[in-house]
Amino acid sequence: MSAPKRFFIPSVSEETILTGEEYRHAKNVLRLREGDEVTLFDGSGAEYSGIVARTEKGSMTVHVVGRSVSDKDPRADVCLLVGALKGDKTELVVQKATELGVSRVVVFSSRYCAAYCNENKLLRLNKVAHEAAKQCLRATVPEVAYSGSLAEALASAAGYRNKLFACEFAEKSGADLASLEGSCALVVGSEGGFSEEEFALAQDMGYAPVTLGKRILRAETAAIALLSVVMFALGELG
Ligand code: SAH
Repeated sequence: MSAPKRFFIPSVSEETILTGEEYRHAKNVLRLREGDEVTLFDGSGAEYSGIVARTEKGSMTVHVVGRSVSDKDPRADVCLLVGALKGDKTELVVQKATELGVSRVVVFSSRYCAAYCNENKLLRLNKVAHEAAKQCLRATVPEVAYSGSLAEALASAAGYRNKLFACEFAEKSGADLASLEGSCALVVGSEGGFSEEEFALAQDMGYAPVTLGKRILRAETAAIALLSVVMFALGELG
């Protein structure tokens, strides 16, 4: 039998009621019925096993029978700060970053950013994070936030032990990625890249330059590549 289907519910109680999109998915797509087993998660790291107790028009009641702490969640605390990208590229980055185990994503505007972020886009990005967490078996969901400036985004990650700034014109890295330990904040620019002033600001704020080689990667490639390397170094991908 396949693993029980997973549902994200912000607050789980003994009798949890699925409504809206989670209900429609359970009822119309998965065709769950009374007696079927499900897994609920609330984003806190806990997972709940439950049984479908009742299906009514527009809602499904799940009787929760057990609680456990997920072993699939990342131990590392890695935050990704990424420039707002065009089209659906930011969504792609949020999805992949969630799968790779990021704790938080901050989307920022910077000098050469051609895209913008508004309330609706932010809601959509958080939804993408939920969907990705559900699909990859995480029980925590990274929060996606927006910063109106690079300086604000950099300041929001001031407490991270390792602060890395991927810069397309950095000549060499100021940090040894292979031997990272502890929390990490990673910064990747938008399609337009960074200005010299932004690079200098990041360094003043304690961010070490990182080069990803001689080729210029697209922003989404750079974000996924840097995150993969860091997660590997932290022991999350093996
Ligand atoms: N418009 C810029 C490229 C921006 S690439 C230009 O033409 O030069 C988008 C972002 O990806 C960069 O700001 C940087 O954060 C990251 N990036 C891409 N290639 C990189 C590399 N070789 N080294 C470090 N970071 C890189």
